[in-house]
Amino acid sequence: MMSFDEALRVVEGAADKLQDEMVHLSEAAGRVLAEDVISDTDMPPFNKSAMDGFACRRADLGGRLRVTGTIKAGDIPQERIGPGQCARIMTGARVPEGADCVIMVEHTGNDGEDHIRFTGVKTAVNIAFKGEDLREGSAALEKGILLRPQHIAILASAGCARPVVYRQPRVAVLTTGDEIVEPDIKPEGTSIRNSNGSQLMAQVAAAGCVGDYRGIAGDSIAETMGAVTAAVEENDVLLITGGVSMGDFDFVPHVLKEAGFTLFFEKVAVKPGRPTVFGRRDNVFVFGLPGNPVSSFTIFELLVKPLLYRMSGHDYRSPALRFPIAVDYSRKKADRVAWSPVIVTERGGVVPVEYHGSAHIHALTDAWGLMAMPAGVFSYKKGDLVDVRQI
Ligand code: AMP
Ligand code: MG
Repeated sequence: MMSFDEALRVVEGAADKLQDEMVHLSEAAGRVLAEDVISDTDMPPFNKSAMDGFACRRADLGGRLRVTGTIKAGDIPQERIGPGQCARIMTGARVPEGADCVIMVEHTGNDGEDHIRFTGVKTAVNIAFKGEDLREGSAALEKGILLRPQHIAILASAGCARPVVYRQPRVAVLTTGDEIVEPDIKPEGTSIRNSNGSQLMAQVAAAGCVGDYRGIAGDSIAETMGAVTAAVEENDVLLITGGVSMGDFDFVPHVLKEAGFTLFFEKVAVKPGRPTVFGRRDNVFVFGLPGNPVSSFTIFELLVKPLLYRMSGHDYRSPALRFPIAVDYSRKKADRVAWSPVIVTERGGVVPVEYHGSAHIHALTDAWGLMAMPAGVFSYKKGDLVDVRQI
């Protein structure tokens, strides 16, 4: 059995980045930049008023100011501001030459025709200076960044309308089990509804990949082999759930080897998820995930996600946050690292949720994260700091 940390290293070490492609900005969120993006302009591109008010000289704030004109966003100021002068200016407009500050309209009063006076006590500069955020020719964003909505705005303002990103991994999702029926069928007798299939498809999409749902294969070598062979044809990764344990009808590892996959591990010291299988054939990776839905969910979060993000070009590190646990917590066996669903209270305390085992998918309803209990650790005392990964 491989330790969890070693299994993670194996997965991370195996992943190769996919090719790159150009996409439209409107499709770039969730993708990973495959090249540095250089800004073709200063940001801001000109000295820009941050307020609605009057552009003037700080030296003149004590006296009357003559209003020489109005500058709105998009105007090119025609006149320089001289001593005792000011220009009415709108937010986003270019600050005229000669002015070194903008006073807020709220800090002014009329003082005769075409004249105002500063009524405030002091003023900030209220000018966003040309290039102060980013210089033309410098990197607006660097290769490898996972694009979130705020990055899309940076690309847009840097003039990058068609970013080059890595291709999204195509991920086949195959479930196994003679007892498994699709969700639109009411389970009779000994059937179990397929929750892993749609859960994995949703996890795949949330990780920025393209899912290919392959249905349910019955528990026979022939059926599993047929489904595996078809599933890998046009995909980069195959995720199979069920059929990886020690039962008489758990054929997945055998079938994968027969199909030519090299398996890097078949058991990991992690709870839930011990019978997790990971392997490769040429450019296709395969994960065999345990059938219970909490195990499948958890192993996707812990081991599949790092593979998918790396293939997508992103050097993913799961953000583990440390919080104090709000209760005493213990377990009887400590041979594996355990990940259990927890909530984090408003005051930052970690509370394990009621959890009946790895079929209890409902336990994840309100769970904020998964709490780690490392191998060898039997208990936490209230107040101990614990690692939690958000889910
Ligand atoms: P297995 O890993 O095939 O031994 O399955 C372990 C448990 O998970 C069994 O109780 C299965 O019925 C259940 N299971 C397997 N596949 C699924 C699935 N796709 N959706 C929900 N439960 C499943
Ligand atoms: Mg099964």
